[in-house]
Amino acid sequence: MGGDVETNRTEAPAPGASRAIVVGGGVIGAACAHYLASAGWSVEVVEQGEFGRGCSHGNCGLIVPSHVLPLPEPGMMRSALKAVFQKNAPLAVKPRLDPAMWMWFFRFALRCNRRAMLEAGRARQALLASSRKLWNELVENERLECEWEERGLLYVYRSTEAMNAFARADQLLREEFNIAAERWDADELAEREPALKPGLAGGWYYREEAQLRPDRLLASWRRRLTERGVVIHEHAKMDGFVHEGGKAEAIVTDRGEFPGHAFVIATGALTPRLAKHLGRRMPIQPGKGYSITMPHPPRRPAMPLIFPETRVAVTPMQTGYRLGSTMEFAGYDATLRRDRLAMLKAGAEPFLIEPWRDPVEEEWFGWRPMTFDGVPIIDRSPRLENVLVAAGHNMEGVAMAPATGKLVAEMLTGKPPHLPPSPYRLTRFGRFA
Ligand SMILES: Cc1cc2nc3c(=O)[nH]c(=O)nc-3n(C[C@H](O)[C@H](O)[C@H](O)COP(=O)(O)OP(=O)(O)OC[C@H]3O[C@@H](n4cnc5c(N)ncnc54)[C@H](O)[C@@H]3O)c2cc1C
Repeated sequence: MGGDVETNRTEAPAPGASRAIVVGGGVIGAACAHYLASAGWSVEVVEQGEFGRGCSHGNCGLIVPSHVLPLPEPGMMRSALKAVFQKNAPLAVKPRLDPAMWMWFFRFALRCNRRAMLEAGRARQALLASSRKLWNELVENERLECEWEERGLLYVYRSTEAMNAFARADQLLREEFNIAAERWDADELAEREPALKPGLAGGWYYREEAQLRPDRLLASWRRRLTERGVVIHEHAKMDGFVHEGGKAEAIVTDRGEFPGHAFVIATGALTPRLAKHLGRRMPIQPGKGYSITMPHPPRRPAMPLIFPETRVAVTPMQTGYRLGSTMEFAGYDATLRRDRLAMLKAGAEPFLIEPWRDPVEEEWFGWRPMTFDGVPIIDRSPRLENVLVAAGHNMEGVAMAPATGKLVAEMLTGKPPHLPPSPYRLTRFGRFA
């Protein structure tokens, strides 16, 4: 079975009980299922693999309300072009004959200016700020066992030049977004984070940031969803709709059809593969990143760290220690590249006294769902009015998940949205995305 099916079938969910089918068992699908179930809907999640094993599994788990600036920013295109020719750059682009990828980069290049960056920043801030509050509610009310901690986030610099250059970003974030970092000089840095090597230039600290362990989050959220009556179907790959008169009646999967009143497509980086069923191209590229998880080194960092000069993030979790990051545009390449994994250790080594510890528990990669403007898609399919897409959360899907799920539920139940939905519409891409 597969593809779209035009039908006159009468089999449909019982009237009165609104049933939603959420396709995709990542953090976005989980959040949509949660808020729809909270609104009284009967919800089923359909996942082609195992729940929580996509990009939401091994990411760095940082809840980052300060990450309002998108990847496309002034000067970024120069770095991206350099990356095509440079070996071992944290940002890598594999030159390939892939018109969709080059069109994506063309549109990305057009967004690398201050006006577009600020516009995207406001759209992102709305989701990040709302989600930051909702995360607190969720962790507490749902008793999510996810190693939640509120210890802020520290950017660490070894060069004084790079440290000082961040002052411009700090000023922009203060003036445009009311987000302020604390500047720690070398002495304060050494005092507050003894896991760091001596002799570093300093750091910028964001107090509001939090962290969680993503695999534990998804496992715990799954239990809570199931307790609320949400049914999770695994190993069922969606490939089309049964539809009539501009409305979907069921999704078609390789395990049969799943009927519903409304459908949420939360399929992350794989969403472009469903484009023909959704009625337009989905300008999402997989941005491949890696992580390594291991036990704590004896000198465990006191807080999550980012080293912008090597683009490596460190998440000291309660039950483990994770190095993560790098960004590779190589299509849906599923190889676990040793050279990219090695870059994580090499990128942490100049900063930490004990940058890693054996034995490695997991080496992992994930495809981040990257839109060229850095803003997620939360909108109805132009083809089927009861189908909503919630995808393209870039590098912040965990940090943006609760507000996305809440907005999706509001859009489907007809409640006033808690934040303006217009920045996330598909129409912003025009016809040629
Ligand atoms: C190294 C790394 C570090 C990161 N760190 C952070 C961080 O610190 N903080 C943060 O907020 N974000 C971070 N991210 C980004 C974050 O992981 C993603 O934005 C987020 O996981 C996307 O969630 P999702 O639910 O959209 O996608 P996914 O988790 O990939 O879920 C989509 C699911 O849909 C399923 N699916 C796809 N197609 C079909 C189909 N046809 N039928 C049925 N099921 C289907 C897939 O199998 C998958 O399980 C990081 C990412 C990486 C790679």
